[in-house]
Amino acid sequence: MDKIQMKTPLVEMDGDEMTRILWKMIKEELLFPYIDLKTEYYDLGLEHRNATEDQVTLDSAQAARKYGVAVKCATITPNAARVEEYHLKEMWKSPNGTIRAALDGTVFRTPIIVQGIEPCVRNWEKPITLARHAYGDVYKNTEIKVSGAGKAELVFTAQDGTQTREVIHTFDGPGILQGIHNTEQSIRSFAKACFKYALDTKQDLWFATKDTISKQYDHTFKDIFQEIFDQEYKEAFDKAGITYFYTLIDDAVARVMKAKGGFIWACKNYDGDVMSDMVSSAFGSLAMMTSVLVSPDGVYEYEAAHGTVQRHYYKHLAGEETSTNSVATIFAWTGALKKRGELDGIPELTAFGEKLEQATLQTIESGRMTKDLALMTSLAHVQVLNSEAFIREIRNTLEGIL
Ligand code: NAP
Ligand code: MG
Repeated sequence: MDKIQMKTPLVEMDGDEMTRILWKMIKEELLFPYIDLKTEYYDLGLEHRNATEDQVTLDSAQAARKYGVAVKCATITPNAARVEEYHLKEMWKSPNGTIRAALDGTVFRTPIIVQGIEPCVRNWEKPITLARHAYGDVYKNTEIKVSGAGKAELVFTAQDGTQTREVIHTFDGPGILQGIHNTEQSIRSFAKACFKYALDTKQDLWFATKDTISKQYDHTFKDIFQEIFDQEYKEAFDKAGITYFYTLIDDAVARVMKAKGGFIWACKNYDGDVMSDMVSSAFGSLAMMTSVLVSPDGVYEYEAAHGTVQRHYYKHLAGEETSTNSVATIFAWTGALKKRGELDGIPELTAFGEKLEQATLQTIESGRMTKDLALMTSLAHVQVLNSEAFIREIRNTLEGIL
């Protein structure tokens, strides 16, 4: 069989620890034999980020802008322990944060559904994709602990010096205060990314806030979504046979629990933080989750939702066997390959991505899986495989499909 040829390179962002080991195995076993893989390689492993003073992360984000599609391995976000472990010059920022800021993107996370791993919520038949706004609100807040009686005011000073004031509260004793903000530009980007992704994946879009209580703040989110939908997306949604649905956040939560799935749920920053952990754990695990960052101008960065699986990496370094689930990392690659195939008009590449996904799911459904899945599967006959053997079994299944 001739190898599939690519036109435009994928931006490849390598990473750390156990996922870096999986990354190499996936390329060697599941990609190189079938594709003449073209990538522009950026090593975001912590050593190289440190050596380049994090320039490599910025460069990789610029490359993603240039080429449009990137695939990223999980990376270490340094803390004090990592600064010591890797003798870092500085506590470098989270690469995901840096890339998200550079691309102004929204992250979409979707559970990977496979027979034998059933969601806790019985009526969920299709995946629920969570779209979390990643800027502002309580994550960029300003807080004051009020020591005693006094008046708290919200003051905005315009560039020309004019002031707008609102009394927040007149305290007659100690209390607390919090100021939060968001920007119209960021909310617009978020809305566009959501509408665009709904169209791309032909799924309904749900959005919810608490606009009845927050008549300026949350209402602005609601209004901006509605305005952009009416002006730019309504026609395309009608054509695609999908809908945009707005409701209050508590109503949305109740409906999600009763729904069948198969839609995108856009959430404000805090709701997205809380609800994505609920939805992902109810569906199975982070290792069975796809994650893609989509920028409003159509840059796609695919990654796994989990971290670098540090505990397994230390076992691996000690020469012990590991059983690390590579599904999310494989799906990061297939997501990127399918998108590249779609953008460049290479149907074989898109078809290959689909077949590799199919092979991965079939392998699990046949009972061959890693330990994390074996612990929660409802399948009766299970063969627990180590990290390498699982990837080799996927290759065997893939050979059968091809
Ligand atoms: P983690 O990598 O998500 O792993 C936490 C635990 O979850 C593992 O010890 C393992 O449980 C289980 N697990 C996660 N992924 C798994 C997989 N693919 N297969 C099997 N089990 C899996 O979190 P961490 O070890 O606490 O964090 C390590 C590093 O990842 C940190 O430095 C953090 O900064 C980074 N991180 C990066 C990203 C990213 O780049 N997207 C996201 C989150 C965290 P058992 O040990 O019980 O088997
Ligand atoms: Mg969280």
